[in-house]
Amino acid sequence: MKKVVTRFAPSPTGFLHIGGARTALFNWLFTRHHGGEFRIRVEDTDRKRSTPEAVDAIFEGLDWLGLIADNDIVFQYANRERHAEVALKLLEDGKAYKCYASKEELAEMRETAKAEGRPLGYDGRWRDRDPSEAPEGVDPVIRFKAPREGEIVIKDHVQGDVVVQNKELDDMILLRADGTPTYMLSVVVDDYDMGVTHVIRGDDHLTNAARQAQLINAIGWPLPEYAHIPLIHGPDGAKLSKRHGALGVDAYRDMGYLPDAVKNYLLRLGWAHGDEEVISEKQAIEWFDLDGVGKSPSRFDFTKLENMNGIYMREFASNATLATACLPFLQEKLERELNDDEIATLENAISELKNRAKNLIDLAESAKFLFASCPLEIVPKAAKALNENGKEVLAKIHADLTAVSDWNRDSLQKLIEDFVEREEIGFGKVAQPLRAALTGSNVSPGISEVLDWLGKDESLTRIKDQL
Ligand code: GLU
Repeated sequence: MKKVVTRFAPSPTGFLHIGGARTALFNWLFTRHHGGEFRIRVEDTDRKRSTPEAVDAIFEGLDWLGLIADNDIVFQYANRERHAEVALKLLEDGKAYKCYASKEELAEMRETAKAEGRPLGYDGRWRDRDPSEAPEGVDPVIRFKAPREGEIVIKDHVQGDVVVQNKELDDMILLRADGTPTYMLSVVVDDYDMGVTHVIRGDDHLTNAARQAQLINAIGWPLPEYAHIPLIHGPDGAKLSKRHGALGVDAYRDMGYLPDAVKNYLLRLGWAHGDEEVISEKQAIEWFDLDGVGKSPSRFDFTKLENMNGIYMREFASNATLATACLPFLQEKLERELNDDEIATLENAISELKNRAKNLIDLAESAKFLFASCPLEIVPKAAKALNENGKEVLAKIHADLTAVSDWNRDSLQKLIEDFVEREEIGFGKVAQPLRAALTGSNVSPGISEVLDWLGKDESLTRIKDQL
């Protein structure tokens, strides 16, 4: 097989949405699997709607997911002269023609077509007309002389053979009256110039594929391979909307999901390898091919994404990775930055805290108490444990803890057990007031772990605060 070249071609008119991210991922994985080249082309020809902010947002999303181009980024607008050149060559070769139809005429053609139940807009009236009949002072558009007979077949790796009758496609515009190329022309020329061998994109582009293939054939270039992926729907089967999760990739980052978990989830949206759900990137590269892409729309499911994220947090991400990823959320909650010692404490505690978190926000919330300023705020449910009795127990254990020279989880656990035995009280009688004093809450990980994470000075200060 020729070296595989794929491209992801976003229009920078908004954020990188979840469907676009999946398209990029499939292109990237396909390229990695075949040892090819993954390219990115920014389709910025719609000058009114393409903004630099949107370009940045798209790259931010792609970077976060680790989908990095292997080659220079192509900005489509910069190639407009080359696109025009190709159109003019087609004109020269008699494969395109000048059309002078006015706005009114075009509107009338559309009306007639509609009334006759035909899908076509333009009736081809300038196709064979003598240019000497051209109206004066009118700049023409350049239209493609599309084949009228026969059919075009797209051999699609996902959809199978897609047959379109040529008579169903009208003569599309290649160059507008102001000389600017149309989207359809630009895509064809750029794909060729970039050496794209495989076009993998959403199936909303399937009709475009037929038109683009007609054009490619007329120019005499080889057709790329096509794979049109079914769109993502909401859990109710309706088209994906904001309500369903059709958000920017940045929104998932802000919701505290790990990029690897999002990628794994997106991979399974529309692609399968047996019943495998949790698939590492390495494994995905080994397995990914177009024959695993399903033909029907997939359904976006937040709960599944959340579960996947929990799995990645518990089983795959290192404590250091989680600490780094969790840090911005935690710092925002605390409204301050953590120092290196505190980050080390966080990393240490994460090995335990991650088991109860589904996302980085949960994780940050559960770690917050470690860095709270003293005296701690005590939640009402925990305050009950700090009654007379509770305080008496606290005062006694404070004395025992003060004497500890070897401050670690095991020695602290032993100390509490000894304390309980000596005082002849239940474990809860000491754990509850301690938990309230150390965390401000009535729920927390094991009390000896909490003491260990906080360290001796901080633990003693927190207990003292309540006495
Ligand atoms: N720019 C198009 C889009 O964002 C994609 C075009 C293509 O992949 O051919 O939908």
